[in-house]
Amino acid sequence: MNLASPASPKDYFEHPLETLDVGSNGTRNLLELARAHSARSLLASTSECYGDPDVHPQREDYWGNVNPVGPRSCYDEAKRFAEAVTMAYHRKYGLTTQIARIFNTYGPRMKLDDGRVVPNFIDQALHGRPLTVYGDGSQTRSFCYVTDLVDGLIRLSLSGEPFPVNLGNPHEMTVLEFAEAVRAATGSHSPIEFLPLPTDDPRRRRPDISKAQRLLDNWTPQVPFAEGLRLTIDHIRRQHAA
Ligand code: UDP
Repeated sequence: MNLASPASPKDYFEHPLETLDVGSNGTRNLLELARAHSARSLLASTSECYGDPDVHPQREDYWGNVNPVGPRSCYDEAKRFAEAVTMAYHRKYGLTTQIARIFNTYGPRMKLDDGRVVPNFIDQALHGRPLTVYGDGSQTRSFCYVTDLVDGLIRLSLSGEPFPVNLGNPHEMTVLEFAEAVRAATGSHSPIEFLPLPTDDPRRRRPDISKAQRLLDNWTPQVPFAEGLRLTIDHIRRQHAA
């Protein structure tokens, strides 16, 4: 399973060339290794392949709306190349490959300074600092708890499907709704601070998971948002205590 890549915008903005390298050359190296050992190879791709989507929710047959020269392109285009090179190995050498398009995932053991919205808001709320909402907070995301994603990845790796499969939780909310949920779940009185929206930040994102349900023995995320949020907050509290 090739999950090697920065995945937080903060990280790939800081390391654009490494992000391009790992998605392109790194993925090709792993495909060569898989070929040499007649191994299966699963690529962790991303909902970022859809860019700022014109189609909602996103199905796997949507080709996406990616800015090829914007600041996110180092990640988006590396992953799109990774999908292309994976399909080329599958077609040319008959390698058994799978491609997971992973949507926003969260849970315990994310870095506190990861930069993504889930650890950011929880860390800020627990410290009583302002929750930093980018833009007006009307953009949407759909958050999947990590154990549900891992279950989907394992099922996909055992499937015979070479074309991309969305893995994510279709439970969609605005960033502002997410901020309110974090405040409520932590009992925090942190104010909300509105900061500029990063360039090309997708306006909305929600997976259509009907393909995964059809191919992966009715795989469907099981962990409700409130439960996943509580487990993640508990973990970050323990990290603060330590
Ligand atoms: N975001 C935010 N405040 C933060 C971090 C992120 O409002 O402190 C927003 C970000 O602009 C995006 C959404 O939350 O609209 C999800 O961002 P994240 O970096 O977690 O992942 P992305 O979906 O952009 O890859």
